[in-house]
Amino acid sequence: MTYQELKAEETQYVMNTYGRFPIALDHGKGATVWDVEGKKYIDLASGIGVNCLGYDNETLISAITEQAHKLMHVSNLFTTEPMIQVAKKLVTHTGMGKVFFANSGAEANEGMIKLARKYSFDKYGAGRHKIITLVNSFHGRTITTLNATGQDKFHNYFFPLTEGFDYAAANDLDSLKAKLDDMTCAVMMELIQGEGGVLPLDREFVQAVEALCRENDLLLLIDEVQTGIGRTGSLFCFQQYGIQPDVVSMAKGLGGGAPIGAVLAAQSCCDVLTPGTHATTFGGTPMVCAAANAVLDIVADEAFLAEVREKGQYLKEQILAIGSHNIHGVRGLGLMLGIIVDEGKHTELANKLIEKGVLAITAGKNAVRLLPPLTISKAEMEEALTIMKEVF
Ligand code: PLP
Repeated sequence: MTYQELKAEETQYVMNTYGRFPIALDHGKGATVWDVEGKKYIDLASGIGVNCLGYDNETLISAITEQAHKLMHVSNLFTTEPMIQVAKKLVTHTGMGKVFFANSGAEANEGMIKLARKYSFDKYGAGRHKIITLVNSFHGRTITTLNATGQDKFHNYFFPLTEGFDYAAANDLDSLKAKLDDMTCAVMMELIQGEGGVLPLDREFVQAVEALCRENDLLLLIDEVQTGIGRTGSLFCFQQYGIQPDVVSMAKGLGGGAPIGAVLAAQSCCDVLTPGTHATTFGGTPMVCAAANAVLDIVADEAFLAEVREKGQYLKEQILAIGSHNIHGVRGLGLMLGIIVDEGKHTELANKLIEKGVLAITAGKNAVRLLPPLTISKAEMEEALTIMKEVF
């Protein structure tokens, strides 16, 4: 079917909740994708930071296929090996305690929030349930994670949301201290606000928040849904911030395209959730865990992560070297980059890039966001840069 034919049927049959770019994608290889009309694109978006190994990765596809032949799903009423392997890898690479498996970023955050509230309930009783998050954050679209998200525009229409969240200004310790009260049980934040505009938090602020959490027995919840799994050049972004979170949520890159989320808790709080307190039918299902095992075996390797850092640095330098009046800077870490443009111009530029053969997305009010596959080749980066030069 052509794009026009597909669009007509999409309009008829699919709820209109996305402002989609005007192309229909068909297949991919590496960091390159083709649309249904055969037009080629270098993908600097990777499904919003999901396809970390690119498209048609042999190791990933074989792992999924082999596991699908054995068992796709059996539920959490039975023990399965792939899930245990993923958990063991996450724990080994971080020195943390135990893992709960979910199916998406929002769901991982729900689990993290429930864990924090129960930790506090078990220790201090009812009422100490408030979680401080940051202004401009993004934590998901469920009724609870919407309210964890510190952006009013997402809250409209859906009231009443889950209560018990308050928002502090990013990089402002006084603002955070002012929100702290006897009802507070945790602080939750992204280390680089992704949807908010690719805004890295200051290291000093993050470390001061960690200290504040320790002083007040608040759990430090780090949302690594977008920054995790090698995206910023370390397995988790917190490893570059010199902090030790109590709980880390992740999703996106973990399955390399297979839907999986996870909550990774430190030893001090990894036994808080007990039978009957949290569950999900699909969580940790063997087929997606086979994918996550393949991803972690590749991405958690230090040489691979060093390459992510080098590629990110190279892209950043080359984008700045374009020297366009449209480019006001490049923010981010590793292969999570935001090209800063005039406010409101990011969508127009992303559309132009797509028209010319580069998939890029937007973030916040003024960022063209790049989240390419971590495996993107030098040749693919060069091709993308040539097009970016032309567009910017
Ligand atoms: N948290 C962060 C930091 C995210 O960037 C996102 C999605 O963009 C989410 C949570 C929600 O993840 P999902 O869309 O998988 O529910």
